[in-house]
Amino acid sequence: MKHTIIYELKQLLYPDDIKCIVCGREIIPNRYGLCNKCKIELNENYCLCCGRHKVGVGDYCDECADMSVHFDEARSAVNYVDNAQNLVLRLKFGNSPYLAEYMSRYMLDTLLFTDWDIDCITFVPLHKTRRRKRGYNQAELLAAALAEYTDKPCSALLEKTVVTPTQARSNREERLKNLRGTFSVIGKPPRHLLLIDDVLTTGSTVDECSRVLKKAGAKVVYVLTFASVPERPFLDKPTQNIRDFRR
Ligand SMILES: [Zn+2]
Ligand SMILES: [Zn+2]
Repeated sequence: MKHTIIYELKQLLYPDDIKCIVCGREIIPNRYGLCNKCKIELNENYCLCCGRHKVGVGDYCDECADMSVHFDEARSAVNYVDNAQNLVLRLKFGNSPYLAEYMSRYMLDTLLFTDWDIDCITFVPLHKTRRRKRGYNQAELLAAALAEYTDKPCSALLEKTVVTPTQARSNREERLKNLRGTFSVIGKPPRHLLLIDDVLTTGSTVDECSRVLKKAGAKVVYVLTFASVPERPFLDKPTQNIRDFRR
């Protein structure tokens, strides 16, 4: 069938194969790839050190108040909950590298709010066996997209030399201990770096990467992730226990 000019024009303006990256509903193309029903929770009240959503009124989350880190500042665009969590998991395990283009736009918005002076963008590496299995490194895709938007160079400066088991249940200190010595630096890093990862959990991965980058000569390491695990309210657990008890 031959399409009319009106149809062709409509397709150009509102192509019907563009879908919401969360629910898959057809949408009018937009910057974040979302329909008007799907929301992503932006990370607005963040810790000035690790960048994750904090609970208290102070400048830092509870962990950063007691611990020093090797990176200079970290920020993350959104909270690792609901739809953001879904996107991270699909980017990582769902063979959906195209999501990086949309997710990196949230990161760019966050980056534009900082006063960071950056020479080069780099990313948290995957061990080569994991990268081979997945076909890509999600942090590298996010870093490459940001490099394109900001016109900064993007280099692979780190290598993961040892596979570490998933550490979902460990705290920052335990993770740091397990990660120690598992990254090495390739060549001499530029002075001012932006280190990219998809999600910040306790911050131990980017901390260890920053430690080795600085040891190799980097002066400043900023960290930017798409999402971060928000700090839990102090009363979370006791409240839950009280509820359970009453039931
Ligand atoms: Zn949607
Ligand atoms: Zn913090």
